[in-house]
Amino acid sequence: MHNQPLGGNEMPRFGGPNTFMRLPVAETPDGLDVAFVGVPMDIGASWRSGTRFGPKAIRGESAMLRPYNMSTGAAPFERLNCADIGDVAINTFDLKDSVKRIEAYFGNVFAAGVTPMTMGGDHTLTLPILRAATAVHGPIALIHVDAHADINDRMFGEEIAHGTPFRRAYEEGLLQAEHVWQVGLRGTGYSAQDFDEARGWGFHVETCDTLWQKSLTPLAERIRADVGSRPVYLSFDIDSLDPAYAPGTGTPEIAGLTPPQALQLIRGLRGVNLIGCDLVEVSPPYDPSGNTALTGANLLYEMLCILPGV
Ligand code: MN
Ligand code: MN
Repeated sequence: MHNQPLGGNEMPRFGGPNTFMRLPVAETPDGLDVAFVGVPMDIGASWRSGTRFGPKAIRGESAMLRPYNMSTGAAPFERLNCADIGDVAINTFDLKDSVKRIEAYFGNVFAAGVTPMTMGGDHTLTLPILRAATAVHGPIALIHVDAHADINDRMFGEEIAHGTPFRRAYEEGLLQAEHVWQVGLRGTGYSAQDFDEARGWGFHVETCDTLWQKSLTPLAERIRADVGSRPVYLSFDIDSLDPAYAPGTGTPEIAGLTPPQALQLIRGLRGVNLIGCDLVEVSPPYDPSGNTALTGANLLYEMLCILPGV
C-alpha cells in the first residue's frame, strides 16, 4: 500500500504533521514516485519579500485537502507513492550559493527517478530545478504560467534573480524552445520586447488579455498536442491569478486568471508527460486570510492529479 495523507477522522485537520496534505515524511526520495519539497526562499525577489514563508503556509493550508478529486475522479495516492521530503537548506545570505544548493538537492531527486512537486519560494528556484532535470532528461518542454515572462537579462546588474530564470534556461539550452508555453502574461513593461523577444526564440506566448472570460480547456488541448510525449516541466507562479484571489504574492498584476481557469488549464493537461511541477511566489505576509496559500495548495494537488500513472 502506498503512503496516504493522514485523514481527518484519524487526527483533527488542525493537528498532525505540517507536511503537504499531512503525508508521511521521507528522509530521502528513494522508493518514492513523487516527492513534495519546500524551497523557503525570497532573496531573489525584486519587490515584496515574504515567499520564504510560502512552503510552511502551503503545507498548513493543504491540511484541509482530501485524497479523492471529486471533479476529475483522480485518486493519486492509490497510484503513486508520495511523501514530503522537507525543505532545501538554502543559504539565505547568498542567492548564488542557494541556487547551487537547490540544483544539487534536485539532482538527487531526479537521479532517483522521482517527480518533484515543489513549494516556493521565489521564482529563481526554477532555474536550478531545470538544470537538475535536464541533467537526467536532456532539454525539456516547459509550461510556464505567470503574469510575468521572467526573461530579463539582468536585474540590478545580476544574472540570477526571480525575473531572469527562463532567459538563463533558454541560453543554457535547457529547453526545447519551440515547445515552451508562457500563459497569463500581462501588466506593464519597459518595451514590447519584454514579451516579444521570447516569441523570436520559439516560445508560445499567451497573454492574459486574450484569455479573459474564456475557458482555458481549448488552450490546454493545443499545449497537449504541441508537447506530445516530450518530458515537460510545469512552473506555476501564483501571480498568474488575479490579485483578488491571490493577493499574497510579491509582484501582483491586476486582471489575471481566475481559479476556475487555472483548474481548466491544469486538468486539461492530463496526459502530458510531466516530470516535475512547482508552485511559486506565495508570500503569506501579504495575505492574512491564508487564501493565497490555500489556492496554491489546491493547485499543487491538481497537478498531482494529472501526473503520469494517476
Ligand atoms: Mn514568475
Ligand atoms: Mn510573476
